Formats: sequence, C-alpha cells, structure tokens
Amino acid sequence: MMRAQPEASHFIAGEWVEDSTGTPFDSLHPATGEVIARLHAATPAIIDHALNAARAAQADWAARQPVERGRILHRAAELMRARNHELSVLETLDTGKPLQETLVADAASGADALEYFAGFAPTVTGQTIPLGRDMAYTLREPLGVCVGIGAWNYPIQIACWKAAPALAFGNAVVFKPSELTPLSALALAGILAEAGLPAGLFNVVQGMGDAGGALVADPRVAKVSLTGSVPTGRKVYASAAQGIKAATMELGGKSPLVIFEDADLDNAVGAAMLGNFYSAGQICSNGTRVFVQRKIKAAFLDRLAERSAKITMGDPLDEATQMGPLVSEGQMQKVLGYIAQGQAEGARLVCGGARVGAQGCFVQPTVFADVTDEMVIAREEIFGPVMAVLDFDEEPEVLARANASEYGLAAGVFTRDMARAHRVAAALEAGTVWVNAYNLTPVEMPFGGVKASGVGRENGHAALEHYTRVKSVYLGLGDVDAPY
Ligand code: NDP
Repeated sequence: MMRAQPEASHFIAGEWVEDSTGTPFDSLHPATGEVIARLHAATPAIIDHALNAARAAQADWAARQPVERGRILHRAAELMRARNHELSVLETLDTGKPLQETLVADAASGADALEYFAGFAPTVTGQTIPLGRDMAYTLREPLGVCVGIGAWNYPIQIACWKAAPALAFGNAVVFKPSELTPLSALALAGILAEAGLPAGLFNVVQGMGDAGGALVADPRVAKVSLTGSVPTGRKVYASAAQGIKAATMELGGKSPLVIFEDADLDNAVGAAMLGNFYSAGQICSNGTRVFVQRKIKAAFLDRLAERSAKITMGDPLDEATQMGPLVSEGQMQKVLGYIAQGQAEGARLVCGGARVGAQGCFVQPTVFADVTDEMVIAREEIFGPVMAVLDFDEEPEVLARANASEYGLAAGVFTRDMARAHRVAAALEAGTVWVNAYNLTPVEMPFGGVKASGVGRENGHAALEHYTRVKSVYLGLGDVDAPY
C-alpha cells in the first residue's frame, strides 16, 4: 500500500501543525484510488495562526540584505534539485501525472523559479528623479503578507512560482494548495525551512474553497495570487477588490493553435499533441482549439491519429508511461461528459473517446475533427486529453475566429513564413504566443492571461511589479514656497 502521509496537515511558523477538529479529507492516488494521506482542513484558529506568523516574520525579512534573502532561496533550489526524484514521486502519487513528466517539469521548474528570483533579489533598485532644485527617489517595497492559492495540476510549480518572487522581494507567504493535491507544498515548506528561511515566512494551510476565501478576505493580507478556474477567479478577485488588495489571477483558457499549410507537419503535430495530451491535458495554456489550414487537414489528421495511437498509458510510476490518469473521478466524469457532448454535437471522433479500464481515472487521448466554432467543445475549457481540430482557409479569418473567445491565456502559430509569424503573434489576443513551439514556460519569460484568463504576470522581470510596490520620496532641498 502506498502512503505519503506528511508530518502534519499544516506548516506554520516553522513548525508542523495539526488541528484534528478541522474537517478531515483524504488525498488519493488517481491511478488506483488508494488513499495516500489523510489531512485536516484549516480551522479559523489555524488560519489566524498562519496569518499572525506571516505578519510577525515579514518586517525582519524585508530588512535583510537582498543578497542574503537570495542565498537562502538558492540553497532551497539546490535542495529541491538534490531531492528531485522523491519530490517527483510525491507529485506523481498526488496528481497521477506520469513520473516521466514530473521528473523534468514539476519540482525542476520550481527550483528554476527559486534560483531565478534568488538572483533577481539583489538587483532590485529604485530611481532617482531630478526635479530642478529638488529631487525625488523611489523605493521598491514588499507588499507584506501574500496569499497564494493553487490549482491541482502543477502543485509544487505553482507554489514555487508564487513563493519565490514573494520571498525574494521581502514578503511573507501563506499558501493554500488545492485539496486534491495538498502534499508537495508541505514538502516545499520543509525544504525552505531547511535552507534557512526564518520561521513564519512560508506557511502552508490546507482546506477547500472556504479556507481560501477566509485568507483572501482577511485584512492582514496585502496581496492574493490565485491559480484556478475563471469562476473561482471572479470570486477571489471580487473579494480582493473589497479590501483594495493587489491581485494576480492565473485562470483558465481555450487557447488557439494555428497551423498554416507551410508549417513543418511533424513539428506541428508534435506541438498539438504536447499542447493537448501532456499532463493528460490538464494544463491551463493548452492549445485546445487547433486550427488547421484546409490544404493540410487530411495529412495533419492522419499523422496525428497515427502518433496518438502510440501513446502509452498506464501506471504513472513507471517511467515508460507517457500518459497517466486524470486527477480525480470528478474530473474524469467531466471530461467524459464533454466527449459525449462533442459526439452529440456532430464532431467527428478521429481517435480515443473512451475511458480506459475500470480502475483509476484514465481517459484515452482523444481527437475530434470537423469541429465548428459554436460547438461547446470548442468554447469551454475541458481540462482533459481532448483536442478539437477546426478547419480554416485564410489568415484574417482564422485570426478573427481565434480571438472570438472570452479567454486569452495563450496561443500558438506554426508557419515557416516569419513575417506571418510575427504578424499573427501581434494580432492574437493572448498573454503568451508561441511560434513554432508550444507550452514552454521558462521562468525567464512572463506568463499570464488577458481577458477572462486573468490579470497580472508571473515569472520574468514582470513579477517584480506584482510582488512589490513603489514608494516615492520627495526631497525638498530649498525653502518652502508658501503663498501665505
Ligand atoms: P479551482 O478554481 O476549482 O480551484 C483553485 C483553487 O482555489 C483551489 O485551491 C480551490 O480550493 C480554491 N478555491 C475554490 N473556491 C475558492 C474561493 N471561493 N475562495 C478562495 N479560494 C477558492 O481550480 P482547479 O483546482 O479545478 O484548477 C483547474 C483550473 O485552474 C483550470 O481552469 C485551469 O485552467 C486553471 N489553471 C490556470 C493556470 C494558469 O496559470 N493560468 C495554471 C493551472 C491551472 P479547493 O480546490 O481545495 O476547493
């Protein structure tokens, strides 16, 4: 029997904390349904404890020399890399994602974020502003206590993408993971503590939406960063607005991937597969509307069906497995519902379309062709291994259709014509556009959405704007010129 029981449900003020009066919940391994850990949701007392701890620790941390803050984060990155295998196994147990992926994409990208912001911290400076006789300067200040709320698809990556910039720039963090994947954020808390992060600066509390809601509404909190769905984003953003708090919203998408007839076919097929089947399709930026120029449609679908049929599904702990289960029974039912809807709407099933086996939450990689813009499977985020292929004829037509979505997280274009690539990248309404690539999110590059897909940016230099504020200091260097 597999177990991944943490020392306690919460990590607060540098200690493992349990409060067994909180609602118990289990973490399941989605490939087998086995219970791997039992935890307790945070009670109001736990949330209060975490916020007090964060508040108490933040000022001293902000007063430290930036290079010293960076050194601690750097050490944490090294510890994460040294323990990549065990962290990857933990993430695979909790999410069901194949070890083949978690070994390279999860803790590894979290370590990249810690390393990047470790180096960034000491480079942050203000401006001096000449004003004739007088002058002003600006200070980059931390915001204070930042709340992070995570989705279940990239639990440790999401925790690191929020914690690394927040901590680097002198903030304290209270992080609430998704109740479906509560474990790896606790492992991160242990690693940060071991790296020398003072107590209270990175706290993890468990719970469902109400725990997240209580954190967001609390007046001790200066900033909220959510990775989650659009409906949750609307609630969290509204609650943050009540308190006039800074907010970053990393929400869902229905991103277009536009493949022109001059594209390298195998690269385009590979990117479409990566952008729909990696992590069993549970990626916010997935290119789930694949627009293929009509002349290459048949060749594209043939190659896609041939390569999709070879994807190996199975035990996610087996490193040869390429696709694991979906995260939960509920998510599997939702995805199967969309597949049934696609068939009922008249889309043509090219491959997949069914659950695999009776145990675990496995769904075949699924491709629909002849999808039209009005179909529900072309409009709503499915968050599973379901690709919709749509046909197009002309560039202006495909741009209009690609942009006709409430979402705007990401987009992709495949073409050998570089003038067209830049023209299309400029015209697509998206936070990120990939040209002849898909779903690569290096920490050096800002990431985030437009329209309903969110506000704010994570990663890159852009993160500075979202975890610091500017204070202007005006220096009067002469007499005060008062008219009375
Ligand atoms: P949800 O929106 O259901 O949940 C996100 C987090 O918010 C969870 O921790 C959840 O807790 C919590 N939460 C729920 N309700 C509230 C509330 N009222 N106040 C505060 N917190 C609340 O998303 P999923 O976990 O289902 O994740 C999938 C979604 O995340 C998809 O839409 C996907 O596109 C998006 N996503 C976006 C990414 C991006 O960077 N743009 C990246 C990854 C995913 P609990 O689950 O415990 O109830």
